[in-house]
Amino acid sequence: MKTFVLFHFRHSALGIALLVFLCVAGYPWILSARSPQAAPPPNQAPASPEPDARYKADILVVVAHPDDETEIAAYLARAIFDQHKRVAVLFGTRGDSGGNVMGYEQTAALGAEREIEARRALASLGVSNVWFIGAPDTPGQNVLASLETWNHGNALEETVRIVRLTRPDVILTWLPDFVVGENHEDHQAAGVIATEAFDLAGDPTKFPEQVTFPRDHSGIGNFTEGLRPWQPKKIYYFSDASNKDFMAGRGPEYSSTEISPSQHVPYYRLAAVETSFHLTQGDTGQVGKEALETGNFKEFTSPVRFVLGKSLVGGSATSDIFAGISPGSIPFVPVPGYRPQASSTLSLELGGPWAFYQKFWKAHGIDQLAQLIPVPEVGVYPGNTLHVPLLIHNHTDQEQIVRLTARLPAGWTEQAAPANYPVRSRDVYPVEVVLTPPTNAQGKWQEITWQADTQGNIIGTVTIRAYVTPAAMPE
Ligand SMILES: [Zn+2]
Repeated sequence: MKTFVLFHFRHSALGIALLVFLCVAGYPWILSARSPQAAPPPNQAPASPEPDARYKADILVVVAHPDDETEIAAYLARAIFDQHKRVAVLFGTRGDSGGNVMGYEQTAALGAEREIEARRALASLGVSNVWFIGAPDTPGQNVLASLETWNHGNALEETVRIVRLTRPDVILTWLPDFVVGENHEDHQAAGVIATEAFDLAGDPTKFPEQVTFPRDHSGIGNFTEGLRPWQPKKIYYFSDASNKDFMAGRGPEYSSTEISPSQHVPYYRLAAVETSFHLTQGDTGQVGKEALETGNFKEFTSPVRFVLGKSLVGGSATSDIFAGISPGSIPFVPVPGYRPQASSTLSLELGGPWAFYQKFWKAHGIDQLAQLIPVPEVGVYPGNTLHVPLLIHNHTDQEQIVRLTARLPAGWTEQAAPANYPVRSRDVYPVEVVLTPPTNAQGKWQEITWQADTQGNIIGTVTIRAYVTPAAMPE
């Protein structure tokens, strides 16, 4: 009504007079007629909008590829249908690498298909808050390679944004560790970045542009995001290790064979339905489709296992995921952070991802992960070589000549390498060892040990267990 008056009478004296009359006499009446609620007192500002409830999640799942969520689909079905939890999912990549059993579509076209497959799969569980960072799908085992190709900073910024937007009580993600199994480096990268985001999202000094209020939220041209800092309460990890025994007692375990009280079918069936949408993927979607067609669900009946990363609300490792969690926010909890260890000697350690994880777990207060796989392990694809990075540290005041000797399993060979390394004072010498397993090594655990010494004095030994398996990703 006000607009009508303005449009037709703004150039006439009568219009101006009418407008003044309306503003003075009629406007309060128009306001009160529009709203059944009492008008705010004259000096009171309008209510400040709360965070958008449509995006609130109880659980945020952070994974690497479309179909990764199938690993825990039976638990998600339980949480969603029978515990009424809200779930959101963040995928690091669109799964644009890997084979396509449905047709020729590959790379970016395959990613476009897999994004839709993931959305349809999660819709079967009622999940529609699904985001994709769009990092490249990078097949391999070395988490540091994926952190590089994903553009670590960018992926972390996006993950922190989604944590602040969804305000989850719990984050579920891949185990940030090097295990034998599929052990995709993208899976590990998702676990690393989710852990970092868990520890950063509550800190207003991290990505501060995300948590600064916009100048005018209903207008255009704002350059800050208007989110609020958010501290999640618990983080749990799951794993695609070929042997999950190391997870026993480290976290809760959920049956897949129980019947869902609300859906009247076993959770494994709901998991198979969820999985069956990933039809481009032979080892997941097609398996789900076949199970539904044949009624043989044996691939879906394993329990869903988790490892507790950390809880900021108490409880034991094996307590239910939501034990100790009450609605509302908790204060930010800073992590220990990196602390250098003083040393004045020589030492030898595994480099690359193994060296990273040793520091990462301590820095993020999840030190117990170091005990999961006491002897570091690696998978080797049959016919491939094994690269092992070693670091010789010299914390002394003078250069040292360090001799390195390897103890190899029968039949393994080492590419020619010098035995003696000059290591400058207060420096590190990175050694890349390249080993070739024998052709008959498949299916056997093999232990490889290196020893370092100076003039006969042993300064350190490291051991790694290798398993030659077609399930191994390229190294
Ligand atoms: Zn994956």
